[in-house]
Amino acid sequence: MHTNVWYVDENVDSEKSYPQIVEAAECLKQNEVVAFPTETVYGLGGNALSEEAVAKIFQAKGRPADNPLIVHVASRPHVEKLVTSIPKQADDLMNAFWPGPLTIVLPGGQSVARNVTAGLDTVAIRMPNHPVALAILKAANLPLAAPSANLSGKPSPTSADHVIHDLSGRIAGIVDGGSTGVGLESTVVDCSGDVVTILRPGGVTKEQLEEVVGEVKVDPALSDDGQKPKSPGVKYKHYAPTAPVTLVDGSEKHLQTIVDKRRAEGLKIGILATEESKSLYQADIIIPCGSRDDLISVANRLYDVLRQFDESDVDEIYSEIFTHEGVGAAVMNRLSKAANNRVIKE
Ligand code: AMP
Ligand code: MG
Repeated sequence: MHTNVWYVDENVDSEKSYPQIVEAAECLKQNEVVAFPTETVYGLGGNALSEEAVAKIFQAKGRPADNPLIVHVASRPHVEKLVTSIPKQADDLMNAFWPGPLTIVLPGGQSVARNVTAGLDTVAIRMPNHPVALAILKAANLPLAAPSANLSGKPSPTSADHVIHDLSGRIAGIVDGGSTGVGLESTVVDCSGDVVTILRPGGVTKEQLEEVVGEVKVDPALSDDGQKPKSPGVKYKHYAPTAPVTLVDGSEKHLQTIVDKRRAEGLKIGILATEESKSLYQADIIIPCGSRDDLISVANRLYDVLRQFDESDVDEIYSEIFTHEGVGAAVMNRLSKAANNRVIKE
């Protein structure tokens, strides 16, 4: 399949019409799938009302069919058409964080294509805060199912190049609107019960949610492997480069000792460091992932750094760890998955 690439300015006015966006929206209306930037990562969009379009998303990504998709909308009336009710807490969260990196799981979902929700009686919805994503949603005038635009299991794409690398030839087109913002996927919260529950940590932190709705729970499955997660996608190994990643919970000196030992055995080793620590290490490749003083910069860089390790020929990757506070919760959630939960404690 030929994959069209449309270049647009990342600051398009989502109220205006642009020929590239009109073409991309036409493709979506014909139930083809198109990748586009959002403020979290690039999404692979398809008409959420069409089983045919949604099937193409699963096929292009190689995504397991039991992992439901997030539906993206540009306006509140679209939400109301897709759900059976909007609980008060959900309404407050929408007012506080939309458009933005917060996905809300709501009762309903009977009006989207069957394969969007993987048979659940809830539907996950988000209004993205990116002018290009909003312009496409408005031009298509459809709710769009849009998971991250990567091959399933690979780090999510934070640039159009990442999307081209994974999906060129597998999808109808890519709208290239530069790099994404947050760099990690949205926070997913369940608002179908009494207490708002975080199913996946992301760009909006627990602390921020609590300011709006009071008590917020975290799905116990996020910290306990034995539990069945309420968000089916959370159980999959994810975000992983080809070489195995191990997290090192200890000093830089300890991390270096481990690396020295493996290199003495003839292995090529990569280190995921920070701007502050990169010059302290010796390895075959050392990639700084933002600054330890600014967790948002770590979130921003993470997927690109994991992909850079894939471009190198290292045998193993060792990574520093970060705090679980604030955005750190999302960073550590993704890093732990990239590492398949392998941690060495000093
Ligand atoms: P992705 O589209 O790759 O960012 O992943 C979407 C995430 O949202 C996955 O972790 C899904 O399991 C989760 N999700 C989507 N729909 C639902 C739903 N109805 N209930 C719970 N989790 C959901
Ligand atoms: Mg994904």
